[in-house]
Amino acid sequence: MNILVINCGSSSVKYALFDEHETVLMQGKRERLSSDEGKSHRDALSEMIDELGAHQVDAIGHRVVHGGDEFRAPTLINNGVINAIDRWSAAAPMHNPYALMAINEAQVRFEGVPNVAVFDTAFHARMPRRASTYAIDHDIAQRYQIKRYGFHGISHEYAAGVAAGFLNCPVESLRLVTLHLGNGASACAVEYGRSAETSMGNTPLEGLVMGTRSGDVDAGVLMNLLQSGEYSLKTLNTLLNKSSGLLGLSGISNDLRDIEAAAADGHDRAQLAINVFAHRARKYVGAYAAAMGGLDAIVFTGGIGENSASMRERILQRLEFLGVQLDIDRNRRSEIRGDNQYAVISEPHSRVDVIVVKTNEERMIARKTLIAVSTPSIETAPTIPIAVSARHCHLTEETFAALFGEGAQPTMDKPLLQPGQYACKERVNLIGPRDRIDGVRVLGPLRSVDQVEIARTDEFRLGVDAPIRDSGKIDGSAPITLEGPAGTVKLKQGLICALRHIHMHPDDANQFGVADKDEVAVSVLGGERSLIFGDVRVRVKDSYMLEMHIDTDEANAAELGRGASGGLSVTDIDEDGCVKRLGEGQFKTQNKPA
Ligand code: AMP
Repeated sequence: MNILVINCGSSSVKYALFDEHETVLMQGKRERLSSDEGKSHRDALSEMIDELGAHQVDAIGHRVVHGGDEFRAPTLINNGVINAIDRWSAAAPMHNPYALMAINEAQVRFEGVPNVAVFDTAFHARMPRRASTYAIDHDIAQRYQIKRYGFHGISHEYAAGVAAGFLNCPVESLRLVTLHLGNGASACAVEYGRSAETSMGNTPLEGLVMGTRSGDVDAGVLMNLLQSGEYSLKTLNTLLNKSSGLLGLSGISNDLRDIEAAAADGHDRAQLAINVFAHRARKYVGAYAAAMGGLDAIVFTGGIGENSASMRERILQRLEFLGVQLDIDRNRRSEIRGDNQYAVISEPHSRVDVIVVKTNEERMIARKTLIAVSTPSIETAPTIPIAVSARHCHLTEETFAALFGEGAQPTMDKPLLQPGQYACKERVNLIGPRDRIDGVRVLGPLRSVDQVEIARTDEFRLGVDAPIRDSGKIDGSAPITLEGPAGTVKLKQGLICALRHIHMHPDDANQFGVADKDEVAVSVLGGERSLIFGDVRVRVKDSYMLEMHIDTDEANAAELGRGASGGLSVTDIDEDGCVKRLGEGQFKTQNKPA
């Protein structure tokens, strides 16, 4: 089985052909490509595919820079995945469009061969919310998808894996800081196998000092520059992305080799550039050790991380207090060896190991592509939205009038995804034998039966025993008193905990291989904790939009915040209680204002 890996950058295309043992059969690279003049990405790619000649290609892996929080694993490419990559193009305009071009070319040239997208963001997609959230207005952040995605994930994951191999310890029991220091640079806190923090954020501009990118800058500076009238959006972009970092600091070059040579000759700005670069990286190592509550190893990779012994030494200065003891000679020699191409540069008794790893994104992409095509993953498939419903009630005309006054009509606050349904401005208070819950949302339109849906936690607070029921099945359900501005209504029944369910259109049901009223299990891969929900009812109707509904307790159990996202698969439980997969999916939770 041969795997072709295509890595399309903003001005270069690399390819490598691997066999299933990760041996490179062929590889090539084209640089200085441009969309306006000279050779285009498509020409370069076409040439390279010609180069492959009679070699067999069984699967193709593509590096895709931005998959946002929609993709947390290598994903078999279909039209839905292509559309999603396209949607994230706005956030990665220098990368995603080229990846799409490569996917298109590969589909045309290798008809019938599966294509897999391997995302730079995927490794970070399960970062804890406290790490991926910026402290800005929460609603604005959600509206504009302003959160930290992180990049270089393929390299960080690869380097962490090689380091764990050397340490002879599963990555799941290690706390590592990986430093990918190249022309682009980022740090990652790999806590027990997962990215817990990373220095690149919403875009690849945040964090460390890079070749031409500034990394962290006080946002106030940007406002001041804009206000000065001398900078436009375009020139600011050029300043921060193209003429900052090592280049801007040194005034010489974005290549550390040139800067190190100038610094040795006493060039002041070259020396400053080196100092700022090292200081920033060291600061992140310390911060990440603190964030993880400990540190087992520091891993260097990327052009600078692999080649500049003096930069590594500088970064590690003052980290003795963390237990880092660098072996100066080994660092200088740093002979990369072995199949996995690493070198250990710490003292044998250093509490924290320091390891240099030759990064190999293509190899990682090949590995992930092979996995994606040979074991269908529950994380690879179409998108299913999930909505978290807070407690709410559906009321009859009569009850609504009693609570809000004769002639009162429900007023729409926000529409819900299911056609015709909406959250009302009106709220009622629930009064139970033990306690009350105020401000519970009414959903419209009015119905023929009163129904109040709460979560288990609410049940204990109210002191009632609400059965788990399908919507509409309220016979024998719990009583509850409703209080509105115009009066009180004692419902003899109608209080339920809603059965988890998925609304779907017949086309969706077809795709998942399920039918109306089926009970399925859904494994939720989003958030920080995966979870399998059993007893999920499928509801199929022409008017339904694909959406799973869970209540707040259930969302909390899977650590799905409102607006968080994850992957899910629709599964079936067989007679032996084993989970059997029916279909596969990714989902995104939505803010259901109920
Ligand atoms: P990358 O983007 O990972 O290919 O890294 C490229 C960068 O690595 C170059 O721009 C240099 O700054 C740096 N680099 C490569 N080799 C050396 C070296 N021997 N010494 C110092 N820096 C190096």
